[in-house]
Amino acid sequence: MDCLFCKIIAGEIPSAKVYENEYVYAFRDIAPQTPVHVLIVPKVHVCCADDINAENSLYVAKIFEAVPEIAKAEGLTNGYRVITNCGEDACQTVKHLHFHLMGGRKLQGEMG
Ligand code: AMP
Ligand code: ZN
Repeated sequence: MDCLFCKIIAGEIPSAKVYENEYVYAFRDIAPQTPVHVLIVPKVHVCCADDINAENSLYVAKIFEAVPEIAKAEGLTNGYRVITNCGEDACQTVKHLHFHLMGGRKLQGEMG
């Protein structure tokens, strides 16, 4: 499958890994918009939030279990934002479900 994040998970394309377990891979965004900008992805190909279902939701739960651990490791003691872009209106550019973990400064009200 020609998916950028599947290739990153497989190690075929380099990434700056910050966290990994059986279900989850997390790495630094290549074009960070905030001092800390980590992408957290499931180790299974899911296109976007619209494709989350009973069969793959365990991966999503594992992502959110990883969030506080990654946030702590990244020093985000004063809060952070977790967002996912889904589809055209949200300007999703990579069609593999991913959650942006962003922080390290006071964030504005709207993403994008
Ligand atoms: P989205 O617009 O929500 O689909 O986010 C895709 C994110 O992937 C963007 O913030 C990009 O900067 C990021 N990105 C694209 N290619 C890479 C890459 N090779 N390594 C790390 N992050 C990437
Ligand atoms: Zn994929």
